[in-house]
Amino acid sequence: MQVGLSTKLLGYVMAGVLITSAAIGVVRVQNERGPLNELIGKSGQSVANATASGAASLVAGYDYGNLEMLAANVARQANVIRVMIRNQNDRVMAQASGDAAGTFKRFESPVVFDGQTIGSTVVDVSTDALETALNDLCWRVFIEQLVFGAILGLIVYFFTASGIVSPIRKLTTAMEEAVEKGDSFVARDLEVKSRDEIGRLVSVFNTLNKSLASYHRQLHSKIDLADQELRDKNIQLGGRTLELENALDLVNTMATTDWLTELPNRRKFDETLSRMFRQSERFAEEITLVLFDIDRFKLINDSHGHGAGDEVLRDIGTLLRLHVRKSDVPARLGGDEFGIVLYHTNIEQAERFVEILMEGVRTHAFGYDGFQLNIGLSIGIAQYDASMSAPQELYYAADKALYQAKHGGRGRYCVYSEASLPQEKASS
Ligand code: GH3
Ligand code: MG
Repeated sequence: MQVGLSTKLLGYVMAGVLITSAAIGVVRVQNERGPLNELIGKSGQSVANATASGAASLVAGYDYGNLEMLAANVARQANVIRVMIRNQNDRVMAQASGDAAGTFKRFESPVVFDGQTIGSTVVDVSTDALETALNDLCWRVFIEQLVFGAILGLIVYFFTASGIVSPIRKLTTAMEEAVEKGDSFVARDLEVKSRDEIGRLVSVFNTLNKSLASYHRQLHSKIDLADQELRDKNIQLGGRTLELENALDLVNTMATTDWLTELPNRRKFDETLSRMFRQSERFAEEITLVLFDIDRFKLINDSHGHGAGDEVLRDIGTLLRLHVRKSDVPARLGGDEFGIVLYHTNIEQAERFVEILMEGVRTHAFGYDGFQLNIGLSIGIAQYDASMSAPQELYYAADKALYQAKHGGRGRYCVYSEASLPQEKASS
C-alpha cells in the first residue's frame, strides 16, 4: 500500500505531539505527588505527636486501662489503621486497630514525661486514599493531555498540510496530466501562494514550464516546415523515384539473367547451388546436379552462322523451362553449357528427368534458315552426399561425369560415383 505525503505528515505530527503531551502528563502527576505526600506526612505526624502527649501521664502511671481507651479513640480516626503505645523497654502497653488498608505510612513520636523519654507511640496511617487520588489524577491528566495533544496535532497538521502538501500535490498532478496527455509541458501556470521555499519551487517550475512550451512550439513549427519541404520534394521526385525503382529492378534482373535464353545465369546458379547445398547439409535433403553441354556446337556456328547457334541456345532454354519443376533451377552457365539443380531428387529420379530431356531434344525440330539441325547433348549427373563439404565439390563431380560422357562418345549421360568410375549411358 502506498502511503501519501499527507498521511505520513499526519502520522509524524500526531506522534510528536502525543509523545510530548504524554511527557508533560507524567511531569504533572509527579508534581502533584510531592505536596500530597507532604500533606499526609504532616497530618500523620501530628496524630502520633498528639497521641504521645496524651499518653505521657498514663504511661508514667502505668494506667493500662486509659491507655487502651486512648489507643482505641485514636484508631477510630479516619485513615488510622493501627496505634501502638510502648514503654521505654519497647514493651507494648496498649494497641488498637482501625480500618484495614493496602498501603500505609508509619509515624513515631516519643512519649516524654518530666523531660524524660519514657516510651513511644506508633501510628500507621493508610495511604490508600492518596494512591486513589493520584490514580484519578493520572487518568484525568492522561485524558486532558490526549485531547489537548490531538487538537494541537490537528492544528499543526492543517497548517503544514495546506502550506506544503497541497502545493506539492498540485505540482505533481499538473505534471502527471501533462505526461498522460503526451505533452512535454504543462498547459497553464500554477498559482504561487507563498514566498517560502515551496512558493519559490512553484515559480521556478512555472518559468521552466514556459521555456519548455516555447521550445516545444519552435520545434513543432520547424518539424512542420521540414515536413512541408519534404512533401514538396517528394512530389517533385515522385515520378523519378518510381523510375529509379524500376531501373534498379531491371539492373538486378540483368545481373542474374542470361540475355539470350532468359534463363538464370551462372551467378544466380552459383547462389542457388550454395543455398540448396547448405539446406541439404542441415536437413539431409536430396539434391542432384545435372550439367550438360551441346555436342559439336561450334560446328553449327561454323556451318550456319552465329544466328543459328543463338537460335539453338534459345530453343534449349525453352525446352528446359518446359521440362523442369518449379522448385528446380535451370541455368545457362556460359557458351553451350547448362546446369539444373534438382531439388528433392535422387540419382534414379534425375536419370528419368535426363532421359525425358534428351528425348525432348531428340524430337524437337531445331531449324534455321530452312535448314534442319541435329542436336545432341552430353550430360553429367551427381548427387549430393554427406562427404561433400562445399557446393563446388558437387559441381566438380557433375563436371567429371559430363567430361566422361563427352569422352565416351557424346550423346549420352554419365552418373558420377565416387567408388567407381562414372558409369556411361548412351542416349537411346
Ligand atoms: P563439344 O562437343 O566437345 O562440346 O564440342 P563443341 O563444338 O560444342 O565445343 P565447345 O562446347 O567447347 O564450344 C562451344 C562453342 O559455343 C564455342 C563458342 O563459339 C560457342 N558459343 C559460346 N557462346 C555462344 C553464343 O552465345 N552464341 C553462339 N552462337 N555461340 C556461342
Ligand atoms: Mg559443346
